[in-house]
Amino acid sequence: MNKIDKNHIWHPYSSATNPLPTFEIVGAKGVYLELATGEKIIDGMSSWWSVIHGYNNPRLNAALHTQIEKFSHVMFGGLTHAPAMQLTQKLLSIVPQNLQHVFYSDSGSVAVEVAMKMAMQYNYAAGRPQKQSFATIRGGYHGDTWNAMSVCDPVTGMHSLFSRSLPCQFFVSRPQSTFHGEWHEEDLNEVRELFETQHKTIAAFIVEPIVQGAGGMYFYHPQFLRELAKLCKEYDILLIADEIATGFGRSGKLFACEYAAVQPDIMCTGKALTGGYMSFAATLCTSEIAYTISNNPPFVFMHGPTFMANPLACAVACESINLLLESSWQKNIQRIETQLTELLQPLAMHHAVANVRVLGAIGVVEMKEAVDMHRIQPLFVENGVWLRPFGKLIYTMPPYCISDEELQALARGIMRTITSYS
Ligand code: PMP
Repeated sequence: MNKIDKNHIWHPYSSATNPLPTFEIVGAKGVYLELATGEKIIDGMSSWWSVIHGYNNPRLNAALHTQIEKFSHVMFGGLTHAPAMQLTQKLLSIVPQNLQHVFYSDSGSVAVEVAMKMAMQYNYAAGRPQKQSFATIRGGYHGDTWNAMSVCDPVTGMHSLFSRSLPCQFFVSRPQSTFHGEWHEEDLNEVRELFETQHKTIAAFIVEPIVQGAGGMYFYHPQFLRELAKLCKEYDILLIADEIATGFGRSGKLFACEYAAVQPDIMCTGKALTGGYMSFAATLCTSEIAYTISNNPPFVFMHGPTFMANPLACAVACESINLLLESSWQKNIQRIETQLTELLQPLAMHHAVANVRVLGAIGVVEMKEAVDMHRIQPLFVENGVWLRPFGKLIYTMPPYCISDEELQALARGIMRTITSYS
C-alpha cells in the first residue's frame, strides 16, 4: 500500500492506525475501474450511487471542457450564469411540479442541512417558532454533518458517540410493509401517535422515499409514503424527501416519490445529479416555503456556500440529465432489475445468506452475519468486481450503461466471493 495513503490520508469511516487496504485507481472507462496493478474490475457501486452513465463519458467530458474554456467558477452572490439557469430549467421540468425554487450546494449532507434550515426558517416566518424538531423513521441515513446525523438511525448511526451534543429528534419504527409485500395499516400507528402528541413542535418529517439506503438497504411499501404525506398535511408538518441516493432513475422511477405520487414540500438531490463527475447537490422547495421565508424577517434565506452553483458542476449536471432523458432509461432500468433478480436469486439458497432483494437498478444480498471487510474486500477484487459492503449488506447499484454480459460478470463475481468467503 502506498505509504502516503496509509500513513497520512483519512478514508471514509477509517482508522489511522489500522486502515483497511485501499486499491489505487489509475483509470476508469464505462463500468470498469483500472487498478494500478493493471487489472480492470467492474464497478458495482457506481461510486456510491453517483456514476450513472459510467466513467469517462464523452458527452459529459465535452460539457466540462466547453465550460472550463469559458470560466470554471464565479461566486453566486450577486452573479449568475447560463449553466445554473439551464440546469434549473431542466430540473424543474422533471421534479414534482409543486417544487419551484432551487438552492444549490456542494454535497448531499449540505443539501440536507439546507432542507432542515428551510423547514425551520419557514415555520419561524409563518409564526410557528415552537416547531423546532424533526421526525423520521428508524433505519434512515441522511449524511454526516450535524443535523443530518441527528436524523440518521439512532442505533446504526453515530448517536451514541455524539448524543450529548446532537439535537434530539423523534423516531418512529421503519414500516414493516415491504415494497413487494402486502400493505399493513398498523405501520402508521406510531406516526399518528407522534403527530397527535407532538405536532406543535415538529417542523418537518424527513424520509428517504421507498429505498432506505446506507441505513439498511430496505425497500418499503409506497402506501406508507402516501399516507405519511397525507398525515403531514393534516398536522401542518412539512415533508422532506431525501432523493439523494434514489434520484435520477435508480429505483425505476425518475424520483422514488413517484411510486406514491407524492409531492414533497422540500426535496434533496445529489450524487447522480452530475453523473458522478463532481460533488454537487440541490435542495428544492415550494413557492409557499420560498415566499413565506422571503416575506418575513429576516427576509432572506440564511445560507450561501462559497461554491454555490459552481458552473462546471451545473454544466455537467445539465448534460447528465440530457443523457438520461434521451435514453430509454426506464426500459434500461427494467432490464437491469430483471437481470439482477434472475442472477442474484440463486444466492437466497446459500447458507450464509438471509435475504436477496432487488428494486430498479439496486440489488441487495443480506447476509446472516456482518461481513469482515478486511477479508471480503480483496476477494471481490480478485473476482473482478468492486463492491463495498457494510454490516450484513452486500449490495450493488451498477452504472446504467452496464451490458448484459457485464451484469453477468458482476453477479458471478458476487457469487464467487460469497462462496469462497463463507
Ligand atoms: N442522503 C442520502 C439518502 C445519502 O445516501 C447520502 C450519501 N450516502 C447523503 C444524504 C449524504 O450525501 P453526501 O455523502 O454527498 O454528503
